Amino acid sequence: MRILLCGGAGYIGAHTYVVLVERGHDVVVADNFSNSSPGVLARLRQITGRPVPFQPLDLRDRDAVTGFFAHQAFDAVVHFAALKSVGESCERPLDYFHNNIGGTLNLLHGMREAGVDRLVFSSSATVYGDPERVPVREDARLQVTNPYGRTKLVMEELIGDLCRSDAGFHAANLRYFNPVGAHASGLIGEDPTGIPNNLMPYICQVAVGRRDRLSVYGADWPTVDGTGVRDYIHVMDLARAHADALDFLVRERRSLTVNLGTGQGVSVLQLVEAFAQAAARRIPYQVVARRPGDVAEVYADPSLAERTLGWRAELGIEAMCRDAWRWQSQNPQGYPMA
Ligand code: NAD
Ligand code: UDP
Repeated sequence: MRILLCGGAGYIGAHTYVVLVERGHDVVVADNFSNSSPGVLARLRQITGRPVPFQPLDLRDRDAVTGFFAHQAFDAVVHFAALKSVGESCERPLDYFHNNIGGTLNLLHGMREAGVDRLVFSSSATVYGDPERVPVREDARLQVTNPYGRTKLVMEELIGDLCRSDAGFHAANLRYFNPVGAHASGLIGEDPTGIPNNLMPYICQVAVGRRDRLSVYGADWPTVDGTGVRDYIHVMDLARAHADALDFLVRERRSLTVNLGTGQGVSVLQLVEAFAQAAARRIPYQVVARRPGDVAEVYADPSLAERTLGWRAELGIEAMCRDAWRWQSQNPQGYPMA
């Protein structure tokens, strides 16, 4: 297939690019580099051994999006492009609505004009808010607690309406749990701008000496050791699920919404310990107050993904820590400046 990756220069998009090229697809990356570095393209070329077709594109520019589709033919779009910081979304909700919802509407418009009728959409476990029970199934109550989460839920709903209005348009909403890790080459990985919000990149930066110590947000949660529990999933497993979702859309000609997680809950201190083992270094930490809006425990029931996509996560927490550390230790400051 000829596939467009919107936001394909970002963390998950870059790893998915590698998997799709390995499966023989013809893949084009589009991005505005608002949260990524052009340096990723050279690394993707190094991994795949071929030039990376790239299109500068800002999804907020409707005319540019429509114009781009008018001159290109695609069988499917994988849509990663979004702003993703929960805290920032609380401070600047309109920017999030404009970029994530407005950008997606422009993309859907461009796809329809050009007759592209397969979409894989990056959703998130954030649509479950504070789940009533774990593991979380796809039919759990949906509730959002911040503007970022709302953009994901609204987009799932808008995409659902579009699918219902047009029997020929099919979408896969992939609800990612907590993506971590990196490609085994250590050439690509997560490269957050500024102070990392998420646990794994923060641990990586402590390990490499960029930060003094990790702040653990609360050790009084009702969990195995009092620290927050999440479902960490290796980004290469996640990337593979996108290829499987594209195959599903072609084969089944219907839409679906699935969780992508391992089904295993891991606490903050368990992840710190596993990382310390993998990197063979101490990770200094201190317990501080809970982070506002945090929840105790979230992990997936991933069985629907196995039944529908034939997909299950294969890489465990050791591989996630090992690969994250390889990337961080080989690239202490992230991607080189272009
Ligand atoms: P990322 O920020 O690394 O990648 C997103 C990419 O989209 C970036 O390269 C950015 O420059 C680009 N982009 C943003 N707005 C754009 C626009 N208007 N036009 C063109 N490009 C634009 O994030 P990621 O971690 O790779 O996440 C990918 C997707 O998965 C996002 O939609 C995110 O919300 C979702 N998601 C991520 C996580 C996670 O923890 N990483 C968890 C659940 C869901
Ligand atoms: N966390 C932490 N210190 C940090 C970042 C995160 O203790 O610097 C905890 C957080 O409270 C949660 C877990 O690590 O229990 C995962 O947080 P992350 O932000 O990575 O994912 P999310 O909460 O969005 O699922």
